[in-house]
Amino acid sequence: MRGRMTTRDRLITWGLQVSRGCLLCNEPEESSDHLFFTYLFSQEVWCSLMSHPSLNPPLVFSQIVQWITKPSSLPKLNTICSLVLQATVYEVWRERNARIHGATHRRPGFIIRDIQLTIRSKLACFPGTSLLFVQPFA
Ligand SMILES: [Zn+2]
Repeated sequence: MRGRMTTRDRLITWGLQVSRGCLLCNEPEESSDHLFFTYLFSQEVWCSLMSHPSLNPPLVFSQIVQWITKPSSLPKLNTICSLVLQATVYEVWRERNARIHGATHRRPGFIIRDIQLTIRSKLACFPGTSLLFVQPFA
């Protein structure tokens, strides 16, 4: 949220000699905005998880930072949106780092499933919220 992930665009501003390109798709520049939301892989994860009919999530990181403060008029759904955002950023970052270190690649569907399992286990602590995450998130 504060743009402190060590994406390649930031490493270059620190004077490190690294390639500017995205590790996942070879776009010319790896930035937080690209990596987490404009990269098609990330967009597929984000849009799939945010497909609730009362939500209209933006796809640009700076707009998402604003939007996530109140994505809907439903407090419980807002909690879920915050959890989904955190889990999406975490899983995309984890996938990026796994590819750097040569681990096998996960497709978006596997990441979506992992995020759904994580969110469902988190929601077990909040009575009445798990039903919000069954459809259409499932
Ligand atoms: Zn990319």
